[in-house]
Amino acid sequence: MDNLILINIVYVIAAALFIFGLKLLGNPATARKGNMLSGLAMLVAIIVTLMDQNIVSYGWIMVSILAGSAVGVYVSKKVEMTGMPELVSLFNGVGGLASAAVAIAAMVASELSSGIASISVIALIIGSVTFSGSLVAWGKLSERVSGKPIVFNQQAIANYGLIAATILFSSLYVLNPSSLFFIVVVIVLALAIGVMVVLPIGGADMPVVISLLNSYSGLAACAAGFALENNLLIVAGALVGASGIILTNIMCKAMNRSLINVLTSGFQEVVTNEIVVEGEIKPISAEDAFYVFEAAQSILVIPGYGMAVAQAQHAMKELQELLEKNDAEVVYGIHPVAGRMPGHMNVLLAEADVSYDLLLEMDEVNPRMENFDIAIVIGANDVVNPAARELEGSPIYGMPVINADLAKNVFVIKRSMSSGFAGVDNPLFFKDNTRMIFGDAKEVINNIVRQFND
Ligand code: NDP
Repeated sequence: MDNLILINIVYVIAAALFIFGLKLLGNPATARKGNMLSGLAMLVAIIVTLMDQNIVSYGWIMVSILAGSAVGVYVSKKVEMTGMPELVSLFNGVGGLASAAVAIAAMVASELSSGIASISVIALIIGSVTFSGSLVAWGKLSERVSGKPIVFNQQAIANYGLIAATILFSSLYVLNPSSLFFIVVVIVLALAIGVMVVLPIGGADMPVVISLLNSYSGLAACAAGFALENNLLIVAGALVGASGIILTNIMCKAMNRSLINVLTSGFQEVVTNEIVVEGEIKPISAEDAFYVFEAAQSILVIPGYGMAVAQAQHAMKELQELLEKNDAEVVYGIHPVAGRMPGHMNVLLAEADVSYDLLLEMDEVNPRMENFDIAIVIGANDVVNPAARELEGSPIYGMPVINADLAKNVFVIKRSMSSGFAGVDNPLFFKDNTRMIFGDAKEVINNIVRQFND
């Protein structure tokens, strides 16, 4: 059989496996299998691609595969769960860089037709924007760059100028596809756009930006696929682009924001009303809280970033079992942006073997909040902040939150009164029905567990 036909048949099979893998990723129970299947499909795709007659150097390709795989395995093994968003951000950036590199290789190898030159310059622009934007997002998440929106006078005009210049020089390149000068200018302008677009976005909006950049990295790969006339790269890029934009949309909905609002939030004047704190902080020890837990019939657990920091999921599972033995119903309320990455809480709780059936979405727990005897907030802050509902002008006003304050009793486990990721105060801590249990989440929960066992 002709090599090209064989390659394309395997590409179709690999594309089908990607789609099936994505479907499996939709459920925590099958997600691991989905990941493996998609990885396998990619391996098969790489192997058949190497059967192409036009491969220039097998040696360099092998060196690159080995070096890339070694770095990938090392960082994936080493990364802490809390550092995953930063890693995803770096991976997006590298994806963008790879597509830009492919486009540059196509552009300098020969004089391209205007169709291929146009698509190559699009891959170059999106890839470069993704690369520099992802680096800034990584810097913000790892606190190497300030998480606050960085804005300056006339920034919007500067951005429009950059975009106009990029369009101008890209068009000039398409008209003169042999010009190295125009390629270099487009690269510099696109890198500047990536930096300028992400700098004004605040830290709390970074998950949305990372998801959007993930989508861009897919679009860049898709455009590079057109430039190389490689069908599988087109399909794989389109899948990443589409799934990234769907996730971006889900996250925007979870924060009750439009994408435009997220991207331009740094330019908007935020009128923060003084928080009128009614009530006072009422600390309670784990030993005293135990008596309320012992009497409770229905308990809602609301985990947040602090549970990940404290690694309190196993202790919580132990407490859950003791409460269930005590004839109480225990369910978990999961906010879509709790923690530092989409699905963060689901992954942690799955690690502790908490049944998926007990993980309820925000929309499922809010309507029945008044019926819970206890809402126990473990290291969550922004996602249970009633200011989002009550305080017009708060930076998080309008973001849907888990209405923990409407439960009969609220226990908040955290180490201090410090704010969460969005940097805003939380009136929940001052409500009449809230008790603060100060301490590391794992230690506090272990302490309550000990009271049950004594
Ligand atoms: P927050 O960041 O709002 O709050 C976490 C709280 O955990 C802090 O107030 C901290 O208080 C507490 N904490 C930290 N360490 C411990 C510990 N060892 N034991 C007990 N408590 C601890 O978390 P949420 O999950 O409520 O909200 C997530 C925020 O992150 C949102 O603003 C979201 O937009 C943003 N975000 C979400 C991403 C996602 O995709 N999920 C990605 C990036 C950002 P203290 O220091 O007093 O202990």
